[in-house]
Amino acid sequence: MAKYTAADCRLCRRENQKLFLKGDRCYSQKCALTRRAKIPGQQWAGRKKVTEYGQQLREKQKAKRIYGLQEKQFHKYYTEAERIKGVTGTNMLIMLEERLDNVVYRMGIGVSRSQSRQLVNHGHITVNGKTVNIPSYAVKVGDVIAVKETKVDNKFFTELKAMKKPTNLPKWLDFDNTTLSGKILAKPQREDVDLVIAEHMIVELYSK
Ligand code: SF4
Repeated sequence: MAKYTAADCRLCRRENQKLFLKGDRCYSQKCALTRRAKIPGQQWAGRKKVTEYGQQLREKQKAKRIYGLQEKQFHKYYTEAERIKGVTGTNMLIMLEERLDNVVYRMGIGVSRSQSRQLVNHGHITVNGKTVNIPSYAVKVGDVIAVKETKVDNKFFTELKAMKKPTNLPKWLDFDNTTLSGKILAKPQREDVDLVIAEHMIVELYSK
């Protein structure tokens, strides 16, 4: 699978919005968007009128980049979201939130979605006691997500254990950093997705 390797910050600058791709750095003064907000390669972009198609495309690219997905993977979520009952855009965002790599990030185990994906890929995470190394694994209400017992003595996790319980946990999740485990308390709702994404535009784009 092709992987985007250019600097993450360039992606934020392209969208002119923080996509929070680099963990703690995103909340600091070092954030490239804080220091230099100009869109890369488009010196005069602010003067151009963006077409409706252009806006829809940007919303799709933004969402793809936030969740770190390639086009094919991302489109699959749209296809599946369209198939199930409810509002397609909302369904799609909820399905993205339920990905295991996103949950590991939301619980504060990984500092970014890409780091969380690596933790899952490398077999550090269990779901209901079993190792799951598939980042796209869709969690369900009641699932217990934890750091694998044999990995808890890694420096990375001992530091996490010593930290305070995260205060910014979404209400559909619980996580106890002293035990390095947490639970899916409820299905996420649209209001739990604290991202500035106009998902209806993505649906409009794909349904053309
Ligand atoms: Fe984006 Fe984070 Fe880079 Fe800021 S530091 S530009 S939020 S990836």
